[in-house]
Amino acid sequence: LITQQHTRMIAYIEPYFLDNESDAASVLNVTGKSSDGVSESLNIQGEILCGGAAADIAGKDFGGMNCVKPLAVVRPVGSEDIAGAVRAALSSDKLTVAARGNGHSINGQSMAEGGLVVDMRSTAENHFEVGHYGGTAFVDVSGGALWENVLKRCVSEYGLAPRSWTDYLGLTVGGTLSNAGVSGQAFRYGPQTSNVTELDVVTGNGDVVTCSEMENSELFFSVLGGLGQFGIITRARVLLQPAPDMVRWIRIVYAEFDEFTRDAEWLVSQKDESSFDYVEGFVFVNGDDPVNGWPTVPLHPDQDFDPTRLPQSSGSVLYCLELALHYRDSDSNSSVDKRMERLLGRLRFDEGLRFEVDLPYVDFLLRVKRSEEIAKVNGTWETPHPWLNLFVSKRDIGDFEQKVFKELVKNGVGGPMLVYPLLRSRWDDRTSVVLPEGEIFYIVALLRFVPPGAKASSVDKLVAQNQEIVQWCVKNGIDFKLYLPHYKSREEWIRHFGNRWSRFVDRKAMFDPMAILSPGQKVFNRAL
Ligand code: FAD
Repeated sequence: LITQQHTRMIAYIEPYFLDNESDAASVLNVTGKSSDGVSESLNIQGEILCGGAAADIAGKDFGGMNCVKPLAVVRPVGSEDIAGAVRAALSSDKLTVAARGNGHSINGQSMAEGGLVVDMRSTAENHFEVGHYGGTAFVDVSGGALWENVLKRCVSEYGLAPRSWTDYLGLTVGGTLSNAGVSGQAFRYGPQTSNVTELDVVTGNGDVVTCSEMENSELFFSVLGGLGQFGIITRARVLLQPAPDMVRWIRIVYAEFDEFTRDAEWLVSQKDESSFDYVEGFVFVNGDDPVNGWPTVPLHPDQDFDPTRLPQSSGSVLYCLELALHYRDSDSNSSVDKRMERLLGRLRFDEGLRFEVDLPYVDFLLRVKRSEEIAKVNGTWETPHPWLNLFVSKRDIGDFEQKVFKELVKNGVGGPMLVYPLLRSRWDDRTSVVLPEGEIFYIVALLRFVPPGAKASSVDKLVAQNQEIVQWCVKNGIDFKLYLPHYKSREEWIRHFGNRWSRFVDRKAMFDPMAILSPGQKVFNRAL
């Protein structure tokens, strides 16, 4: 139904969308803050920003390679405001709506050119309630909440914590649940999408719906890993566990990829108490390059990487398993040592290339924040980030390693090159995420950082190298899926989803038939 207010809002805002993208702000008399007149016409309680103020918030993302002009940024007060924006777009013949979490996408996925961007951060504090259901603790949090803040409040106020994380926590709950949310705990608990039991969602039909495995389950599973295509998550119920006090963080080095993968796969396949609480891995350059090589491995300034401990047979790149063991303040040092030695005793890393530190659990989960601070100081946080993330099947990870790590990126990417195994059985097939075949698959992340002052052409070269990797995978029949996918053509999306494409299309028809939502993903075109 087109309400009177929506008709009014469209009449008010659409002329600028149609023929004047240059400066809606001046015409609307919006000077960096909301104008009551505009808020009224959009029929929302929150703020509306246009022109430069909107572009400042939503014209760029972490990838730094796309720059678009939204018509306006809506800073909602709650679900009703978000539904108001969606209904307004439905009433128009062109407008789209993108939820923007913290804008940490790489390829413009949270942008809306000429559309409305909903800045979810204004809703961050709307929900925070811890509860119990059948002996399991959970927390209700806002879709716009940063995981970092969820962690801090859960631990400090309740001694509890979510079970599954991302490496970096300056990301929103809704943003990671729209993809998957993966880190070193996912081998045990699955991605973050496997650790939520209920959502509140504003659909592309403008409806506000509560959904779970039992209630409106099609919407629940559509939205999880749904690339923002089916609804905007305003509340998520996240499973919790008792938070440990401390973590022993360990890195061990391998010269041989097959020994690295054998140990990593063994660790992720063990029962809970027989493994570490966190298992990740990365590839690094066999040399003294401070950004790509040996110096990136030690965990403390007092530790040195001694290359004389490497076997003669070492190649151009080396491999590091990154592990963590949780413990309580009340656990004795010797019992922690014993657990650790029992597990490490089974592994075949290169003796003498082992690093460890003990640190509080919260500091461990916030470890990437320190890298963010350093990158902000040296300017690489603001430069473009042509990142590539893939899931590669166990069957093909050896071939991938030969071609990509040993050949294409053998000199490093200016940042971490992650590679570690995950278990498919911990992912729910009913979500919108697609994975390679087989129980074990690897996440591969080439997290490229570009030095300040680098020419645009050098960024283009890195983007071209990403494309070369993807094309090599396709041509050689590698069983892979892009994580945080980014495609330009319909054919590529169809290939990406494979036999799940028709389900994705059916879900779109059900929950966002006009293709209003998340246009920056470039999966569907706005229906006319
Ligand atoms: P945005 O980039 O703002 O949005 C992403 C997509 O989700 C967009 O399509 C947007 O429209 C949609 N969206 C946003 N909010 C909502 C909502 N509430 N409801 C529905 N749709 C919504 N990922 C991992 O899995 N593991 C990691 O360890 C990891 N580390 C990272 C480290 C850094 C430094 C960066 C930049 C990214 C990392 N990522 C990681 C990727 C990250 O999970 C995704 O980029 C995620 O989308 C970013 O979250 P965001 O809140 O910034 O979302």
